[in-house]
Amino acid sequence: MSVQVVSAAAAAKVPEVELKDLSPSEAEPQLGLSTAAVSAMAPPAGGGDPEAPAPAAERPPAPGPGSGPAAALSPAAGKVPQASAMKRSDPHHQHQRHRDGGEALVSPDGTVTEAPRTVKKQIQFADQKQEFNKRPTKIGRRSLSRSISQSSTDSYSSAASYTDSSDDETSPRDKQQKNSKGSSDFCVKNIKQAEFGRREIEIAEQEMPALMALRKRAQGEKPLAGAKIVGCTHITAQTAVLMETLGALGAQCRWAACNIYSTLNEVAAALAENGFPVFAWKGESEDDFWWCIDRCVNVEGWQPNMILDDGGDLTHWIYKKYPNMFKKIKGIVEESVTGVHRLYQLSKAGKLCVPAMNVNDSVTKQKFDNLYCCRESILDGLKRTTDMMFGGKQVVVCGYGEVGKGCCAALKAMGSIVYVTEIDPICALQACMDGFRLVKLNEVIRQVDIVITCTGNKNVVTREHLDRMKNSCIVCNMGHSNTEIDVASLRTPELTWERVRSQVDHVIWPDGKRIVLLAEGRLLNLSCSTVPTFVLSITATTQALALIELYNAPEGRYKQDVYLLPKKMDEYVASLHLPTFDAHLTELTDEQAKYLGLNKNGPFKPNYYRCLGLPIK
Ligand code: NAD
Repeated sequence: MSVQVVSAAAAAKVPEVELKDLSPSEAEPQLGLSTAAVSAMAPPAGGGDPEAPAPAAERPPAPGPGSGPAAALSPAAGKVPQASAMKRSDPHHQHQRHRDGGEALVSPDGTVTEAPRTVKKQIQFADQKQEFNKRPTKIGRRSLSRSISQSSTDSYSSAASYTDSSDDETSPRDKQQKNSKGSSDFCVKNIKQAEFGRREIEIAEQEMPALMALRKRAQGEKPLAGAKIVGCTHITAQTAVLMETLGALGAQCRWAACNIYSTLNEVAAALAENGFPVFAWKGESEDDFWWCIDRCVNVEGWQPNMILDDGGDLTHWIYKKYPNMFKKIKGIVEESVTGVHRLYQLSKAGKLCVPAMNVNDSVTKQKFDNLYCCRESILDGLKRTTDMMFGGKQVVVCGYGEVGKGCCAALKAMGSIVYVTEIDPICALQACMDGFRLVKLNEVIRQVDIVITCTGNKNVVTREHLDRMKNSCIVCNMGHSNTEIDVASLRTPELTWERVRSQVDHVIWPDGKRIVLLAEGRLLNLSCSTVPTFVLSITATTQALALIELYNAPEGRYKQDVYLLPKKMDEYVASLHLPTFDAHLTELTDEQAKYLGLNKNGPFKPNYYRCLGLPIK
């Protein structure tokens, strides 16, 4: 079923994007695992019955007339365009589609600007050179122009990382390295760090129960046997758990980093030691970045048949340089806002030649990543950079969407006095009913100790606001990459910048007032703290299931378009994480299932349903 993504109110303004919503009959989840395997893999339900079947593929029966609440939850209701509800609340699309109908373009330096409306249907890919510097100098590499995605340039620091003080400046490309089995089909900073990376991976495994469950079940069957997956994601311990799970499920993988800063060198080394051809290191140049991607796809005797991308750069590279590869590729799984946006552009232009799965917009990704990840990481980011105490501090949070809700909940729990600014009366009302004072930024800007932006918008904090802040006010951003705070306006001759710590600048006014600017206005948690592995586990499981689904789907189930993960799979991802909490899920009785017009095994909600992310008090 194809759904036009327009809400009535926004119809005139928001560029149309077509989302493919799968009716259950078109696309039942095919995990490539036997029903028995899936059912045994399912977490305890209804009091912890280990035999409880996992979500089955059948379509729920149609509700009978007068079925009361069933009307809202019925399959028929599921056909209501899900996208309008989803799109309006989707922060990622606000990134790309501004309220005036213009679109955001990612510029070479990673900043985002509004594009003229006339370009909204263009594919925003610049040609890349395929000739790589054979012996690049450091300067030579860094001076190359680039058009890599924003996600590849956002600074990102993941887990606590082992740092090897003996690291030399030699480019990994200039090193001859072999793993203990004699393979040199990889390029990492230092293969000798593998042992440290293995420990990081083992720590991550503890918090990634669903992947570990999939791995366990895969001992019997290999739903990805024959899959040749080329991946381009952050290379962290969590990604390593995903890759090794895909390997256990039968796939061959080759991997590059989607971000030039985010690779954990020791994790990349551990993967290489374990036989994964990984081409990535922290601090790649642009030339290195594309070289690494090319080394993943341009291999003699090996051709990918699946793509797992985060940011769209890998997909773009194959489109530009090796379009014939798409003859063998069965599907693309894309995680990021930017990458998904690019896929929709390709689709609209009729240039998408394989099915693609948008996992960014699955409920389990969006709700958990935005709300829970930020609720957990805001305090960490602030604490690591400033050592501040939160109790009694006055904080203003701009934007009360998912991210804002998470930040407010965390700060309130710590005893901060929290103010909220909003433009949307619905979110504003939520803020009020959750017990926050709704204000305009101007009204509190002189008195607050911390300003946090979470809007996905631009210039929310202007130079005027910055001028009026009190001494020692902390300013940071949890939303859209470095556009929310007008940091550029602080680079004027009368203001002095002092770097007091990594990611912490004091900006000093002529009268001695100073504000504390964190991460130069880039995402605080991605720059200065860790993000919870458990949340990443949910996303990684979504990716694994999307790969299994696309790889095993019978001919014709998916066309050359962009699809959302079927609701049932979203539910399945969640259910695989429940045992961690010793949670006992209630099972519908036959009578209740009939009353609601649902299949006892799900899906339990229509596709358009997005649960409200209210903060937990
Ligand atoms: P959302 O759309 O749910 O919330 C944003 C809110 O900001 C909306 O309610 C909107 O009405 C409000 N808003 C817009 N302009 C405003 C203004 N000028 N003043 C006050 N309020 C304004 O989006 P979200 O899921 O909360 O995400 C927000 C941003 O955070 C996005 O850019 C998203 O990509 C980013 N994000 C960050 C992280 C992270 O880890 N830091 C995680 C997920 C998403």
